Amino acid sequence: MTKLKVTVVAGARPNFIKVAPILKAFQKAEIDFRLVHTGQHYDKNLSDTFFSDLNIPPPHINFNVGSGSQAEQTGAIMIAFEKELINNPTDYVLVVGDVNSTVACGITTKKQNVRLIHVEAGLRSGDMTMPEEINRLVVDRISDLLFTTTQQASYTLKAEGVEKGKIHLVGNVMIDSLIDSLPKVSRPQGIDINKPFFVLTLHRPSNVDEKNKILNTLKHISNQVGQKASIIFPVHPRTSTVLNNFPIPENLQMVAPLRYLEFIYLIKNSIGVITDSGGIQEETTYLGVPCITLRENTERPETIHLGTNKLIGNDFQKLGSCIKEILENRWKSGSIPEFWDGKSAERIAEKIKA
Ligand code: UDP
Repeated sequence: MTKLKVTVVAGARPNFIKVAPILKAFQKAEIDFRLVHTGQHYDKNLSDTFFSDLNIPPPHINFNVGSGSQAEQTGAIMIAFEKELINNPTDYVLVVGDVNSTVACGITTKKQNVRLIHVEAGLRSGDMTMPEEINRLVVDRISDLLFTTTQQASYTLKAEGVEKGKIHLVGNVMIDSLIDSLPKVSRPQGIDINKPFFVLTLHRPSNVDEKNKILNTLKHISNQVGQKASIIFPVHPRTSTVLNNFPIPENLQMVAPLRYLEFIYLIKNSIGVITDSGGIQEETTYLGVPCITLRENTERPETIHLGTNKLIGNDFQKLGSCIKEILENRWKSGSIPEFWDGKSAERIAEKIKA
């Protein structure tokens, strides 16, 4: 019998974390895969270190598309991926998450009449100003197999008219990576963690593209944390460009983006996380670490209803009371959504084989 062939696409930091357990499960299930790196993230700190920390095999091809506007990046990936599919025919293409690589390869796949699999389907923020929301809607609409992280995401897809038989609730592959990595986490060198500390990450255009807005946010966070704790801020390249010449407050440590095993060490040992990331809302819920999300909406509502996450938008008064709650150890305790158990990738491999 010929082996099933799946082309797996990864392009950006959160993608690498999601494909790692899927590739392991494919190896175990004897599914033949070809890994395509689009080069959407090319910085060593956002790409290479994730391959080593998560034992991801080297990609079979890297398009090296680099940065550009939404259309430039999406277009460049589509052109390269069309050639890839012509040169390397496959049974399925599997895309994860909601980045430009996801939508570009998704559309190209369907136009080449190849079956498309979307992992992390059915997430909706309802916010059409987020590029990721557009990517999610388009990819889910054209996918043949849709793997969801939660019951809510499955309901959303059904409500949008996706055939029931295409949707499979498998849990969260990002949590597979987290569970697998917890015994291997390592304390980052050169960061002062002698005091209780918060971890801060910011990279969504709505928070970081306007210089005054991000400087104001950092000033408020720093003032409200005060001297009781420090703030460790691994700065995303998108964010670092607007922070040139910023007078860094004493309690804020700005560092380069961290490798995965170091970052997980930090959030696990922090008193709380302040973020606008999607994946970090999920990781903190799994770890039971308080999470303050600087967004008006989230596509991951379970982290709020069940988990340790609170949404505060840009409300600095709420930010102050949330930071106080964490400092006084009064944060809500949470629980972990169903199927976030480290076995999601295995479920995906089983379903694809079936
Ligand atoms: N992450 C990391 N190092 C960092 C910041 C984040 O390894 O310095 C990891 C984090 O644990 C999570 C993922 O990167 O797994 C989230 O990526 P990002 O916030 O860029 O994307 P989003 O989840 O918002 O799409």
